Amino acid sequence: MIVIDGSRGEGGGQILRSSLALSLVTGQPFHIVKVRAARARPGLMPQHLTAVRAAAAIGGARIEGDHIGSQSLLFAPRTVKAGRHHFAVGTAGSCTLVLQTVLPSLLTAGSSSEIVLEGGTHNPNAPPFEFLERAFLPLIGRMGPKITATLQRPGFYPAGGGRFTISIEPASRLERLDIPERGNILNCSAHAVVARLPREIAERELKVVRDRLNWSEKCCSVEEAASSSGPGNVLCIEIRSEHITEVFTGFGERGVRAEHVASETVREVEEYLAAEVPVGRYLADQLLLPMAQAGGGSFRTFAPTRHATTSVGIISKFLPVEIAMQQGARNKWEIRVTKTP
Ligand code: ATP
Repeated sequence: MIVIDGSRGEGGGQILRSSLALSLVTGQPFHIVKVRAARARPGLMPQHLTAVRAAAAIGGARIEGDHIGSQSLLFAPRTVKAGRHHFAVGTAGSCTLVLQTVLPSLLTAGSSSEIVLEGGTHNPNAPPFEFLERAFLPLIGRMGPKITATLQRPGFYPAGGGRFTISIEPASRLERLDIPERGNILNCSAHAVVARLPREIAERELKVVRDRLNWSEKCCSVEEAASSSGPGNVLCIEIRSEHITEVFTGFGERGVRAEHVASETVREVEEYLAAEVPVGRYLADQLLLPMAQAGGGSFRTFAPTRHATTSVGIISKFLPVEIAMQQGARNKWEIRVTKTP
């Protein structure tokens, strides 16, 4: 039985989600202890518990320790069941992170799936829907499966209530993916969403984007999301290049000026454009697992984050791969996933 220490490295929910995903992919059971030990409120929170139950439903798994606050979980999957599934976090907890847990196993399942997810779709410290749709899923698509994502309504903290659907046509196996270069930049755009908040917030954010990046009005759009259950604001900046699309996100917060939200997001974009690496920090930690699943892949990115190095440790417990991280120029790293004999 694989034993995972949830307090290692990053010490948060990602260790649990990666373990669940890898257990479903490989069929190997695991026991995780000290779940989210490095967090102020350790153990399973609603978002993590939904991920556990979602993984159990997809994998027909036997589970022990699946309750709020639990710091120990045993997970023993049987067969992966593709098809229609519906998972609701029940709070504003991120449902895109629930998808992160179940998606890998469905990419090579025997038949297609349609998954409806409910909860937070735009949470700080989680992939926002636009990042999934425009940055992450197209790369997974290049590995073979056909995936479409549709947002029915956004869900922001604290009201939640967001909903999106993912359709997956699996591939028999994942192809390796290599992203050495970004290529020429083809298009840049910024999209500011306000839900039950003044439109002016989005307009102020976009003014900062235009002024700092020297972009025209044409590149910027505002959306008033009337369908949202509660207030929220998100700014998404998309850089579409020949070989990859990256999405950078800023979240509006009570007491934080719109100009500040936009300026922080623009800073990330400027750093990305200057570094000339194709893969940003968030994509980097999220691509490791599917590349390991494919048995190979590589990309250039910034210095690995703790999320990325933690992910490497978990992946190597389940799959026979080596993940090398080598620094080239300053702030330019090469990540290489290879199958070990
Ligand atoms: P915990 O509360 O225990 O930290 P968590 O379950 O909320 O855990 P993390 O372990 O911090 O989550 O993992 C967050 C995941 O969300 C990582 O895979 C990270 O790459 C991704 N992520 C965070 N912010 C963004 C963003 N702006 N865009 C895309 N992905 C993001």
